[in-house]
Amino acid sequence: MTGVPAKLPVYLDHHATTPMDPRVIEAMAAAMRDLFGNPNSVEHAIGRQAAAAIMAAQSQLAKFTGCEPEHVFFTASASDAIRKALELATVGAGMISVAAMRVEHPATIAALNALAQDGRIETTWLDVDARGQLEVESLHRALRKGLDLVCIMMANNEVGTIYPIAEVLSACREAGARTMIDATQAAGRLDLSSLGTLADFVVLSGHKIYGPKGIGALIVPDAAPDVLRLFSHAGTPNVAAIVGFGVAADVARTELDQERSTTARLRNRLQEGLSSALETLNVNGDTEHRLPHSLHISIPGIPNDAVLARIGHEVAISTGAACASGAQEPSHVLRAMNLPEPLVDSALRLSVGRFTTDVDVDFAVEAIVRAVCAIQGAQEEKIAC
Ligand code: PLP
Repeated sequence: MTGVPAKLPVYLDHHATTPMDPRVIEAMAAAMRDLFGNPNSVEHAIGRQAAAAIMAAQSQLAKFTGCEPEHVFFTASASDAIRKALELATVGAGMISVAAMRVEHPATIAALNALAQDGRIETTWLDVDARGQLEVESLHRALRKGLDLVCIMMANNEVGTIYPIAEVLSACREAGARTMIDATQAAGRLDLSSLGTLADFVVLSGHKIYGPKGIGALIVPDAAPDVLRLFSHAGTPNVAAIVGFGVAADVARTELDQERSTTARLRNRLQEGLSSALETLNVNGDTEHRLPHSLHISIPGIPNDAVLARIGHEVAISTGAACASGAQEPSHVLRAMNLPEPLVDSALRLSVGRFTTDVDVDFAVEAIVRAVCAIQGAQEEKIAC
């Protein structure tokens, strides 16, 4: 290792959240200072300035996703956007038929389960293979039986697998099914520039693209009266968060290519560093269709919580999704992939980001390898006793 990281612990958990970009912070600070008006107070200039800032952010999100600004609706989070999309898909309908992958984010799974319990939807769960990749045939089978809505994430928040969204969208369009695409993890890592016209609902979150927490967006290209009704009387908008989200989307759009190649290089350095030192290391997920910043590994026989306990002060990584790992539940994603138990028990999710450096990566490799060797040493001592 050639240097010392600028900050410890080294942050390698960008699937969970991203640090705010200084350009976002600056724009938000200015908005908090100067745009204090209530955007609903359109009778005076102070209110109109705040309303104009929201419209500017709508335009930034529209450019990001290729839709019209009036099709961008701000929500409290991606989870909130998912609930609202499902509400819109079910409003006024009897029971509707929905398909979703087993590896969707818990926010989607919970919302679908709640609607199913209320008798408003019936759900077909689509299978994934051992790489977490969609079994496209299971979607075609479900479409042949008749579906009203298909919910697919664009990329997975645990293993980073990228889904064949173009194929899904065209199959759904042909079969007459609507689509909800959860682009929360894909945003800033994949090109979303035509998604906003092709999907019926697109879900985004501010804090995954170096923007603030507590702000998300639902893109609805067919903004019918139902949509406007759902979003009217939503309370006073969080102007500063919306401004920050808009700037974050702009940066993500204009720097996409550069960011993709820098993070892929760093992720590959991380993967190579770990796999050359740890010969039993397994890389999980679909390595051919994987988010550029994402690395999901297992080291059979080395419990993931033991690794975290040893390196927590040096490197911030996780055993799974933020919510699942907080609850210490086995990951539903790894279960759906049918990963063998030793791979599940030792699974570690790592992700580099915009501010990660080579020094950070080398430091993390060294810390993880040191922890694994120490755990192996302790296990061998135990056996010898
Ligand atoms: N969808 C995916 C794919 C996610 O990764 C997340 C967050 O981890 C969410 C939805 C929920 O995002 P939020 O924290 O904005 O509710």
